[in-house]
Amino acid sequence: MSPNPLRRVGVIGSGVAGLTSAYVISSSAAVTLFEADDRLGGHADTHVVPTAHGPVAVDTGFIVHNEKTYPTLVRLFAELGVTTQASDMSMSVRSDGAHRGHGLEWAGALGWQGLFPTWRNVLRPAYLRMLAEIPRFHRRAHRLLEATDDSVDDGQTLAAFLEEGRFSAYFRRHFMAPLVAAVWSCDPAIALEYPARYLFTFLRHHGMLAVFGSPEWRTVTGGSRQYVDRVAEVLRRRGASLVLDTKVTSVLETEHGVEVTDGNGTVHTFDAVVVATHPDQALGMLAEPTALQGEVLAAMPYSQNVAQLHTDTSLLPRRRRAWASWNHLERPDTDDVTVTYDLTRLMRLPAEDTRYLVTLGAPDLVDPATVIATRHYAHPIYNPGSLAAQRQLPRIDSGRLVFAGAWHGWGFHEDGARSGAAAAGRLGFDWPVPDAGERVPGVVTPRLYRSVVSHTRRAPLRHSFRNTTHLWLVDLDDLPDHGMLARFEARDHLGDPDRGIRENIEAFLAADGIDVAGGRILMAANARAFGHCFNPISVFWCHDAAGNLAGTVVEVHNTYGDRHAYLVHTDERGRAQVAKAMYVSPFHGTDGHYQLTVPVPTERLHIVVRLVTDDGTVFDAALRGCATDAGALRAAPAAALGSLKIRLHGIWLWARRLPVRPRPAHHQEGVR
Ligand SMILES: Cc1cc2nc3c(=O)[nH]c(=O)nc-3n(C[C@H](O)[C@H](O)[C@H](O)COP(=O)(O)OP(=O)(O)OC[C@H]3O[C@@H](n4cnc5c(N)ncnc54)[C@H](O)[C@@H]3O)c2cc1C
Repeated sequence: MSPNPLRRVGVIGSGVAGLTSAYVISSSAAVTLFEADDRLGGHADTHVVPTAHGPVAVDTGFIVHNEKTYPTLVRLFAELGVTTQASDMSMSVRSDGAHRGHGLEWAGALGWQGLFPTWRNVLRPAYLRMLAEIPRFHRRAHRLLEATDDSVDDGQTLAAFLEEGRFSAYFRRHFMAPLVAAVWSCDPAIALEYPARYLFTFLRHHGMLAVFGSPEWRTVTGGSRQYVDRVAEVLRRRGASLVLDTKVTSVLETEHGVEVTDGNGTVHTFDAVVVATHPDQALGMLAEPTALQGEVLAAMPYSQNVAQLHTDTSLLPRRRRAWASWNHLERPDTDDVTVTYDLTRLMRLPAEDTRYLVTLGAPDLVDPATVIATRHYAHPIYNPGSLAAQRQLPRIDSGRLVFAGAWHGWGFHEDGARSGAAAAGRLGFDWPVPDAGERVPGVVTPRLYRSVVSHTRRAPLRHSFRNTTHLWLVDLDDLPDHGMLARFEARDHLGDPDRGIRENIEAFLAADGIDVAGGRILMAANARAFGHCFNPISVFWCHDAAGNLAGTVVEVHNTYGDRHAYLVHTDERGRAQVAKAMYVSPFHGTDGHYQLTVPVPTERLHIVVRLVTDDGTVFDAALRGCATDAGALRAAPAAALGSLKIRLHGIWLWARRLPVRPRPAHHQEGVR
């Protein structure tokens, strides 16, 4: 089935699954998105709370993701230009009933103070044994995942796995059940009935089957509603109808299309429909479900949870040193899950005495006077029956009616986004990967990259030099200004110092007939800090108004104050070649050519300059960086230190009698 601009598609449910479906489909069809609630987003739910620092956005639903195991969501964020920030992942357990009423508290991923928030923990053999059981558990879980023989029982529950491995009841109670219950927001008893292999696949995928090496978790800056608002903006721009406060009561597939009846009794007819609600809701709205639809959708249960946004810290461990991002409270009176997310920590909210917390499953414990908002959320429950049903999902779609939702995977935001895009794909609406130029709108700026600069000299002397530094990536239309700590000024780059940097780049490109008016220009460079600026290399990625990369300008500075700008047109991997034109180091002439690798930055920055002469590759300079949340203060000394180290390194090479090459005169417009 090929996409047809005239096709009308209904999408039911505006959680991440429905939003992603609608986003993909609306690029080539007329979409109507139905949502029972009075807001879009489903579990992506942000509240604006007045605080002493002004209004603050706090998430109660959809909180963290990472760039490694959430590729669909990250792609969506990139296309929408959504900014994210590093979060903090740690988990605490508090059990007031343990140790004859003295209680146990401990936290993982907070170092020694988390493991031993009180000296009493050192004197608890059962606790120390539990700590030793954790790496053993990781090893056994990995072994189970790697086993391929028939003896492996896919249906083995977590409880059976722990039994077989003779893990202690203490480990099960104070480590295993809280971990699974916190991740899936399910009761500890249900957690132990999860199929072990399925569970471990998820935990390994998300870096949770090891003591170290978990991916960096992130939150959406300003709360998850930021991305929801941007999807809505795109949908409106594309002419989609967003129908809020309207519950769909019936979906009927007919010979020619799909009829959707809403709560007002209005019947809408579509060529195709995506049902992106929970499975029980989906089944409830199917007017004539097939036997298989009935069987599969009924076999995927959800558990209901009350979530309260509040400020009552009595739900956290008693010892502040054990306060973590996820705080599991074991209650002697009930088996229900009680998890408190510390949003102040997870979202890096402005520090103040008040902590913004979201507690699941303890409306009786949270002080009602501290409650800011109450929500009812439902989470999928995984058991051998639901997993068997999940395997049947590909068979319940028809050519016109497809299903989506986080329950198609592990129940997380990535699963929702992936299932939404896949549902669109099954209706014939693809989400083609954009080329490098189109991806640019998603590049986040301003951004700092913690980087390592390395110089490798191959001839006539073999030698390496490394320096850790910070480099900025900025948008020339939106230059950050941190005063003395970081400013970007025209005098530090090519062209006329009395014009703007952008004007100078535009003029430089215009000399080659390239017009980038209205396009985005990104610059990777050091800022001027404390009155000093030194940029051995600055790179400008210049896009035209259509978002295509029109050219890349690589500007090189030497320590004598000369500068030269090279215009290159890179291939799809960001590579180009250009003849060397300026004397950069006293140990090289101006002969030879550069092989450049300068792809448009993403989370990573990668710049490589290789000097090739008649003697072969004589020198490599590489700068490799990862985006960081460090601030301008952290980066401020970078230029001065870099310049000092390069000079000292030059003196060192000179002292080793590396031959110095004569310096020809070089003129560059705009050098003062
Ligand atoms: C407290 C909490 C914390 C979480 N933390 C994380 C986290 O840190 N990381 C992570 O990856 N995931 C997290 N999740 C899970 C994740 O957010 C959800 O699994 C995912 O967002 C579900 O998306 P969905 O589109 O499948 O369903 P939903 O977001 O539930 O969307 C379904 C939508 O369908 C609508 N609907 C239902 N019936 C009808 C009808 N008849 N007519 C019209 N509309 C209807 C609903 O109102 C709802 O908006 C968390 C969830 C919660 C609740």
